[in-house]
Parts: sequence; structure tokens; C-alpha cells
Amino acid sequence: MQQPRHRIRRYRRPLALAGATALVIATMASASSTLPAAGRATAGPVAAPRGTGLGPCRIPASMGVQMSEGMPTPPGYARSTGQIKALNLMIDFPDAQATEPAADRLAEFFPQTSDWFRTSSYGRLTYVPEAPLEDWLRMPLPFAEYGIERGSPYEPGYRKLVKDLVAITDAKVDFAAYDLVNVLVTPNAGPSALDTVLSVTFSGNDDAPFADGVPLANTSFVYSRQDDGSGSYSETGYRVLPHENGHVFGLPDLYTMEGGGSVGHWDIMSEDWGANNDLLAWHKWKLGWLDNSQIRCAAMPGTTEHVLEPLASEGGTKLAFVPLSAQSGYAVEVRTPAGNDEAVCRPGVLIYKVSSDVDTGQGPVSVADSTEDSGGCTRRPNVHAELSDAPFEPGETFTDRPQGIRISVLAKDADGHYRVRITRP
Ligand SMILES: [Zn+2]
Repeated sequence: MQQPRHRIRRYRRPLALAGATALVIATMASASSTLPAAGRATAGPVAAPRGTGLGPCRIPASMGVQMSEGMPTPPGYARSTGQIKALNLMIDFPDAQATEPAADRLAEFFPQTSDWFRTSSYGRLTYVPEAPLEDWLRMPLPFAEYGIERGSPYEPGYRKLVKDLVAITDAKVDFAAYDLVNVLVTPNAGPSALDTVLSVTFSGNDDAPFADGVPLANTSFVYSRQDDGSGSYSETGYRVLPHENGHVFGLPDLYTMEGGGSVGHWDIMSEDWGANNDLLAWHKWKLGWLDNSQIRCAAMPGTTEHVLEPLASEGGTKLAFVPLSAQSGYAVEVRTPAGNDEAVCRPGVLIYKVSSDVDTGQGPVSVADSTEDSGGCTRRPNVHAELSDAPFEPGETFTDRPQGIRISVLAKDADGHYRVRITRP
């Protein structure tokens, strides 16, 4: 049995809004922690790449990487297509007693979280939240005694918390009926999310306590309130939960110790504060929300042209991938202000490097900025500004000289489809 590894991520990214009444908000994406995989369910596309020509583009996970961008997602994570049932448990503590109804806490996350998954997955993931116990569950120990801090590993605090939770609920809840568990903690337990984000997910955890014959292998814990300071908490505050559940489906964190500077607001695994955002096309393919037929693999030497349709709309070709090695490549997709992407201020062709040998939180994805040092086009709170205008527009070319790669945006047609030319050695 492997010992779980974890990293403590502790950074503050103050974000000053323009004007005299500016709020300064320290933002931190939520933490993640993952543990050795179990063998229960598998996320991601099940179709074999055989015969599709996509083999070189399905870069596999590397040995020693805790949580990888590689395909396929290893076993043990929750299924990411079809209907999944989420058990929601609202908890408080003797030293942090809830001051509002448990139903209100649940309502901070639903139905928005289910809607978010329906939109992002083009209806392929039906997320059914259930809360069979309607009231707060009082934990037996004070919050402080579980010793939970940002970056806390599963042992010993979370194991104790989950065991206690099972002990007080098992007679009333059939844990085997659910694909994942959300523990929604009373917001007054622990520090404000403006200071420290405690929210965390333990995914693929076959060492978790069992209940009703199944390990509680995919559990997300949500603390405090991620209020982006714009007065729109009721619209944006739920977004920590789809981020945490992203880990349950096997997605790594895209923010790093330095913050959201490698991916910006282009994926909820990078930034889960502020305006709504979607997932990268790479993630949608990894989760099985895009078919193999919607992917173009530019693996052969020479020049190829591809017509890409906006990621937010259903159907059509969504992703061109240019493999560089067995563990990396460039992804090319079209992003527009539609669907879950509400903050896109420069629509166009987003180009990013995916590295399956780079671990969660270490920068497995990095977005190429078409307008470096521009300061970006957004002024929204908690949206990484510099990369907000990263997409390439018609007439612009991304070049990786050492690798001999050129990706040119040739044109955008009346339907909003983009023609892209890829040249590689
Ligand atoms: Zn995370």
C-alpha cells in the first residue's frame, strides 16, 4: 500500500479591481489531493483508438505522476458519462454549529452544479444530486480536533472525519447507491475562503473507509464560501464544487504555486472563482464528452488544414492535436462567449501545450498567449487578466521554432467556424 503523497499549496494572489472602491481579494483555487487508484469505475472515453488514427494523440499517463492529463484515466475515479448519483452530506461541529438551514447550504451548489455538468458535457453527464438526510449532521468532535488545514493529507484527520461520518449516517444512507460524495461543511468552520481555501477532494482512494461494501473513494469537501467580491456569489459561488468533482473524474489541478498564470480562466480546474468558465477540449475528450470523431490528430509530417467549431456548441470538430512526443503535444480549439464560457472577451483559437508527465499543480497545461504582456481584455474580478486575450485570430500564427511547429488561423466563416493550418516536421 502506497503512502498518499500531498503537497501543501499556499499562495495568495491579490487581485485589485480598478477604482477607488476596489476590493482586494486573495484568491486561491481549491486544493486537491489524490491517492492510489482503486478498481471500481473508470472515467473517460471507452472506445479504443484502433483504426481512428488518434493513437499518437492519446498521450498516456506517465509512471510516477500522481494525477495526469494522460489518456485513458486510470481506474478508481468516478464514471464521467451517463447518470451519476452524488450523495450530499451537510455537516457541522460542536465548536462550529450551523446558523442556517442545511437546505440553504445545499442550495448554494444546486441546481447550478448539475446544470454546469449538463452544459459542459453536451448532455452526456447527468449529475443527480441527492441529500437523503435533510438536516445538518453534527460531528462528534470539535472541528479543531480533526486538525484540518489547507493541504492536509488524508491521514489522520480526513480518515477520522469520514469514519465518524459513516458511523452517524450508515443506518440511514446506502452508500453503495452513489458514485461520489460531497461533504458540504457549515461555512463557519475553519477560515474564510478569502484567506485560505480548505476545499479538497480525495479521489481514486482505495484506502478509504468502507460503507455498505464500497470504499468512499471519491469524496469532495467544500468549506467556507468562495465569494468573488462582485456581489454575484449566488451566481458564481457554486463553482468550487464542479472543480472538486473534476478531481473525482480524474482531472488534475491546472493552477500552480504561482496561481492561474499557465491556463488562466480557460478551464475550471485552473480558476474556480469569478465568472463561469468551461473545460478545455482536451479535458472533454478525456472525460468522454467528445467523440474520437470530433478530434483531428496532426501526427504526420507536413501541412494539414482543419475546420474547428466553437467548443461551446454541440457537435462538429472540436479539437486538433499536434503530438510532440509520447507525453506532450499542442491542443487547438475554438473558444467563444457561450455555454459555460461567459467571460470570453477575445473569441478565437486557443492553443495550449498538454504534458502528461507533469503532475497536478505543477503546470500540466500551458496556454500560448497571442498577445503577450497586453494586460488582457477582461476586467472581471478573479479572471486571470493577462491570458484572457490569449486566443489567436484570423491572420495570426503560433510558432514553436525549436520543434518546427506552425499553427496558423486562416479564416473564420459566417458560421463561426475557424480554418486552421498546422505545419510540422
Ligand atoms: Zn483542485
